Amino acid sequence: MVRFRSKKLPTEVVLRDPVHGYIHIEDKVIFDILKAKEFQRMHRIKQLGPISYVFAGATHTRFEHNLGVYELTRRICDIFAKNYPSQKPGDGLWDDDNRLLVECAGLLHDIGHGPYSHTFEHLFDTNHEKIGQKIITDPNTEINQALKQVSPNFPDLVASVIAKTYPNAQVVKMISSQADADRMDYLQRDAYFTGVTYGQFDLSRILRVIRPYRDGICFTNNGMHAVEDYIVSRYQMYQQVYFHRVGRSMEVILHHLLQRAKDVYKNGNLRVTPSLAKFLEGNWTLDDYLKLDDGVMETNFSMWTQDRDPILSDLSKRYLFRKPLASVKINEETKNLLPKLKDLINQAGFDPTYYTDTNSAFDEPYDAYKPTGKNANSQIEIMQDDGTLIELSELSPLVRALNGTLQGDERFFFPKTMLSKDDEPQIFDPLYQKFQKYVRNGELRYLRRPRKKD
Ligand code: ZN
Repeated sequence: MVRFRSKKLPTEVVLRDPVHGYIHIEDKVIFDILKAKEFQRMHRIKQLGPISYVFAGATHTRFEHNLGVYELTRRICDIFAKNYPSQKPGDGLWDDDNRLLVECAGLLHDIGHGPYSHTFEHLFDTNHEKIGQKIITDPNTEINQALKQVSPNFPDLVASVIAKTYPNAQVVKMISSQADADRMDYLQRDAYFTGVTYGQFDLSRILRVIRPYRDGICFTNNGMHAVEDYIVSRYQMYQQVYFHRVGRSMEVILHHLLQRAKDVYKNGNLRVTPSLAKFLEGNWTLDDYLKLDDGVMETNFSMWTQDRDPILSDLSKRYLFRKPLASVKINEETKNLLPKLKDLINQAGFDPTYYTDTNSAFDEPYDAYKPTGKNANSQIEIMQDDGTLIELSELSPLVRALNGTLQGDERFFFPKTMLSKDDEPQIFDPLYQKFQKYVRNGELRYLRRPRKKD
């Protein structure tokens, strides 16, 4: 294998980071990627999007997270190179020739994300993974030019690590598995900026017990509880932060707002910035994509608050001025009530297409056996003193309880005014009263049928 090298910087660059203390950069290629305009764009895209409407501190950006993942891969490489250096090919230990490759992959693993990624992808048929691959491999990007300093095929190799097709499992799993540098960074970072304590786990301990083995990365048995804690933290972050009902409500508004903009644009004149217009037309290039950021999106929303279309202007105001929709939990049984509820909402003057939605948020905290999908074959293994591997859920009763389960809920979103309170005039309206009878204690329920008189 060729050894990938980068020129060294004359002096090491260190960046302060609230989660990892310092981020260390010695290689010119890493610093050049950082300076590339496609990477600098990450400064203008919030990591958690509308969740900042719930946790006001969570305005950190994708820039910091990408740097954090780089720093963790760099530290893991240091540990592997010091404690588990490969002596001969195929011995299952760490070959440090892969270091620069995995560090660049860590730094660029999320480079394809745009503003409000998930909502945007759904509406405009973009795909952050494909776009990420293109940013890395397209000869016109500054990132591609920076990577080519190492070797002509280096961009393709970095892209293959992120796409999980690179043949070395240790390299791939450091970036994507059920215990990878990506998750370790975002859990800690999102916990720090939201201010919650759930996402905290003993990262320094995890870094002491992580080790390479032939098929990937595992942990030594004296670190089992630190790994267990990490899985529980992940579970709690999903339930308490990522799946927060108000965050999801703001995402629903965002989705309908962009959907409405698309519809208004089709029918005539909508004031819109040229970069976003390309997406409304369905005719965009990579350059157009790279021009988008949170600021561009918010500028459009701000213009649309004055739009002649009443739904578009109302939804824009609801988003910018944080007026979330209310929601109730639904299940397979109570779903049958939704047409009735939508009808009442319609009668109250709200178009259900733009003012209601169902949204399900489920996560699998851990899966010991996952043959396919995003994290296929990435169960966490704990290495015993004799070198045998035991899968985590066999050792930890806590992880066993979460193993293979789906946690989360499905909710129905609707205008808050439908749940009018005592001091609002609608409370006396039979339409609202009927609606409220179905929605009790945050759950949708069937009305009790009056008992038949004998
Ligand atoms: Zn990430």
